[in-house]
Amino acid sequence: MADKKILQDKNNYGKPRPWRQKKLENLRYAEYLSILLYKKAHKVYGCADVLRFRKLPDGSTKLYQTWFCKSRLCPLCNWRRSMKNSGQLKKILTEAHKQQPTGRFIFLTLTERNAIDCVDLKLRLRALTQAFNKLIRYKKVARNLLGYVRSTEITAKDNGTYHQHLHVLLFVKNAYFKGSGNYLSQANWTDLWQKALRSSYKPIVNVEVVRTNKSKGKPSLLSSAQETAKYQVKSADYMTDDDNRNQQVIDDLEQALAGTRQIGYGGLLKRIKRQLKLDDADNGDLVNVDGEELPEPTEAELIVAKWDQQRKNYLIW
Ligand SMILES: [Zn+2]
Repeated sequence: MADKKILQDKNNYGKPRPWRQKKLENLRYAEYLSILLYKKAHKVYGCADVLRFRKLPDGSTKLYQTWFCKSRLCPLCNWRRSMKNSGQLKKILTEAHKQQPTGRFIFLTLTERNAIDCVDLKLRLRALTQAFNKLIRYKKVARNLLGYVRSTEITAKDNGTYHQHLHVLLFVKNAYFKGSGNYLSQANWTDLWQKALRSSYKPIVNVEVVRTNKSKGKPSLLSSAQETAKYQVKSADYMTDDDNRNQQVIDDLEQALAGTRQIGYGGLLKRIKRQLKLDDADNGDLVNVDGEELPEPTEAELIVAKWDQQRKNYLIW
């Protein structure tokens, strides 16, 4: 046993991929599920236990085969999902820009008051999506809208509440910037979002024009895409030093997130996702996250690694 080598999976920049850290978090998550008497705990324990990689000619390795539990809060699966989402999003945005070269991107963050508990969070998540669907149908928005991608993010707060909000990349016609009949200021967006939410208070809205060139102080398309495609809930929110709190957050989120989706595409971006035949990251393939098709590897090109509970690492077999 002791002579077995530790897995080294590096990307094509030579950076090691965080398998060990993610697996340790996955086991901690499975432990919490088991304490909370969730039946799926057993399944989650087995997530990515055995990994098969292929060696690539440039010396890097690429995951070839494994089994993922696909549980909503699994830190391993979420890491794979975020890679898959950002890869897909980059392809879609590049293609959108090709099809509509004069189109521009706007990055919106739409928030509302925190949800007070699990039941409230479940209701608010549904209301948030409905309000967003209303927002994009308002004439002032729809007039110049070509497409969008939106994602839901939730952060667990220390006082037990949840901050649920939307990150949205809007793809708009260039005309959006021409004249007061088209352009929407931060105040305009806030008013529209308040109307869509039917809230008595002014919700916090952040709007930024995404730069496609090097203008300073504005977010780049890449960083906005990454912000949109990242985790729905950061695992750090339920991997704190406080076990009781972690269990409460996991229990709340398991129930509130059941049946929801993290990411939604609309308009041109949705059509492009279909044209490019990209599958769904929520339930799709988490092995080949970049979607690149490679020929079947030969036996000699395969590397097999198994999780070792004693040494708390992946060992090469
Ligand atoms: Zn998993």
